[in-house]
Amino acid sequence: MSNDRILMKDLSEGKELFPIRVINNYNKYLPGFAYNIGNDFSESVNDEIRKENGGKIPVKGCHCEFDEKTQTWCGPDCECESRSAISFDPKNRIVENPLSYDFYEEFYIECGLHCYCRGKCNRRILPGPHALKKLHLEYFRDKGYGVIVDQPVSTGMPICEYRGLVSIREKDMLNPSHYQEDLLVDNKRIHFIIDAAESGNVSRFINHSCAANLIQICVYSSIPSLRKIPPIPRVALVACRDIRPGTELTFDYGSEYFKDRNLRCLCYELCCFNPADDWALKTKNLRETQNQTRSNKKFNERHFDETKDIQNVIELDSDDDDDDF
Ligand SMILES: [Zn+2]
Ligand SMILES: [Zn+2]
Ligand SMILES: [Zn+2]
Repeated sequence: MSNDRILMKDLSEGKELFPIRVINNYNKYLPGFAYNIGNDFSESVNDEIRKENGGKIPVKGCHCEFDEKTQTWCGPDCECESRSAISFDPKNRIVENPLSYDFYEEFYIECGLHCYCRGKCNRRILPGPHALKKLHLEYFRDKGYGVIVDQPVSTGMPICEYRGLVSIREKDMLNPSHYQEDLLVDNKRIHFIIDAAESGNVSRFINHSCAANLIQICVYSSIPSLRKIPPIPRVALVACRDIRPGTELTFDYGSEYFKDRNLRCLCYELCCFNPADDWALKTKNLRETQNQTRSNKKFNERHFDETKDIQNVIELDSDDDDDDF
């Protein structure tokens, strides 16, 4: 075992299914924020929802019947499935070809209470409010805290949700913090963001990389109206590479992030679009990167049974047979 100094046994203080320990071998700094496993909505977002819908959220679901033979509700003919721009394999819990998706255009529609299955099928990228994989927080001298995954994760597997205060950029006048994630620009050109400066979950500590191992995917509950904004989607962070245990998780903050804040990127990847002054000295070489990708893939093929979610949150009727962790 290592001599790492553990500042906190569980960042979430019992709110996640698996404790997220905080390692800091350099100082005693602990970030201040409220750990939250749900999104809050700012007043202006609530106003928009009420204005558009007279207090109601317009939703339609699928009409799938329970199939005795397969013992499942929603199969390939599910209307929620066919309106999703993203394919998801619920059995292995894998989003197909995650690298080919465009965050602003494409989305996944999960079944919900408005479906005949009432959300009991397992078409859920985000089946519950908790982080899906074992994670911990670690302090790095050059960039502060980051999030490390403690189990292998295969390409396409969801890790957690980006949570915080859902806000409208133009109306809520938030200061650009380091904890903001675009949600969507709706068809009235309203720009929604999630701000995790004051409240959020473990995902607010995930750092940027130009060769990130996670991507953001918009997830709607049931069928979103095409004319109106609500229901507001949630943002799932999904692996777009095979990830070994002990790896830092990253996603791409987008070039605007660096422009708005006048920052340089510290990822030192070959493809870095905003390299720091010492990039040439520290960057990885191509062969190294390719070998790593190949060996991660092989590793995950051998350890696929360790890639499972922390808990099978979908099985609604099995309260007492939780996984033994
Ligand atoms: Zn269905
Ligand atoms: Zn369903
Ligand atoms: Zn459905």
